[in-house]
Amino acid sequence: MTKPRILVVFGTRPEAIKLFPVVRTLTDRGDVSVRTCVTAQHRGLLDQVLEIAGLVPDIDLDLMEPGQTLDRLTARLLTGLGAVLDAERPDMVVVQGDTATAMAGAMAAYYRKVPVAHVEAGLRSGDIYHPWPEEVNRRMIAPIAALHFAPTDTAAEALRREAIDPARIHVTGNTVIDALHWTRDRIAREPALASGLLPIADRVRDKRLVLVTTHRRENFGDGMTAIARALARIAAREDVAVLFPMHPNPNVGGVMDAVLGDNPRILRIDPLDYPHFVAALDLAHLVLTDSGGVQEEAPALGKPVLVMRETTERPEGVAAGTARLVGTDEDRIVSEIFTLIDDHAAYAAMARAHNPFGDGHASNRIAEIIADACRG
Ligand code: UDP
Repeated sequence: MTKPRILVVFGTRPEAIKLFPVVRTLTDRGDVSVRTCVTAQHRGLLDQVLEIAGLVPDIDLDLMEPGQTLDRLTARLLTGLGAVLDAERPDMVVVQGDTATAMAGAMAAYYRKVPVAHVEAGLRSGDIYHPWPEEVNRRMIAPIAALHFAPTDTAAEALRREAIDPARIHVTGNTVIDALHWTRDRIAREPALASGLLPIADRVRDKRLVLVTTHRRENFGDGMTAIARALARIAAREDVAVLFPMHPNPNVGGVMDAVLGDNPRILRIDPLDYPHFVAALDLAHLVLTDSGGVQEEAPALGKPVLVMRETTERPEGVAAGTARLVGTDEDRIVSEIFTLIDDHAAYAAMARAHNPFGDGHASNRIAEIIADACRG
């Protein structure tokens, strides 16, 4: 009997981080045939994850173009993925989250009446421009998907409100927690995987380390300038060190160069590969970010996370008390960080390890349900 054919499609760093545990688990089962297709919507950052996860994609569309518009990217994704589906003829397509790749992958599958499994389904901010265009990307996948893997009850409830058949919604936890556990276990066995961080750990030994990431489109421009100014004020304190692995988007680096120059107090470095980033999270006293994935990882490690956004589709971290929305107002960012550094009770109240986003076994649940659905 031929095995059901599953095609897993992804294009960016966060998708790769959240899908490699699913690909590994599905492959290890042996009862389905798993093929992977990367669009390389974000080439460099994607390749870092593929390497560390030991994933060699079966198909690589290499669609990255400098400065590509959303229209051109989406058009190329749709035609490129359509051709892949015609050649591969999978029984199911797996997409993750809310990127253009996920949306176009779901559309191309729908045009061929191939069922779609959506990992990390049901995240909603309620505002189609925050995050943009991700809120609409993920909403467009919902009516198409045959299987909705909601990370939390909140996400499942959002899908039910959109009249998605409850029988098709499965609360699994977020696979990012699986990726985090897998990576920490690997670092424990092979410390060399994250040893590049040792010189930094040495340098910040007596300081409170603030780990910063920012890349959201909504924060480009004035928001980014305010973030840069806030970082300069935070790093001026003797007892604080700022570690900032910088996203390669020029909208980030350009502003940081203009505002921060070569400020030696802010350790601006290239994006870290995943094990090094996980080690940096472990080292951090607190985290300042506008990232989705980092909002999920920090609570799992008991690190307070200040989120530089006005709304979040991940309210579970805020409800659990480990995340707080601080927007991009310069004074607000500075005062929230200083409070966490100076007020031990405020820090202790946030620095409790919580796993509102999952228990590290999401991929097992997802693989089981996909295999069951394929058996019919
Ligand atoms: N990350 C990483 N290296 C870095 C910064 C982040 O590996 O230098 C990881 C992080 O652990 C998280 C993911 O990248 O799992 C988040 O990606 P990003 O912030 O680009 O996207 P988002 O999650 O906001 O979609």
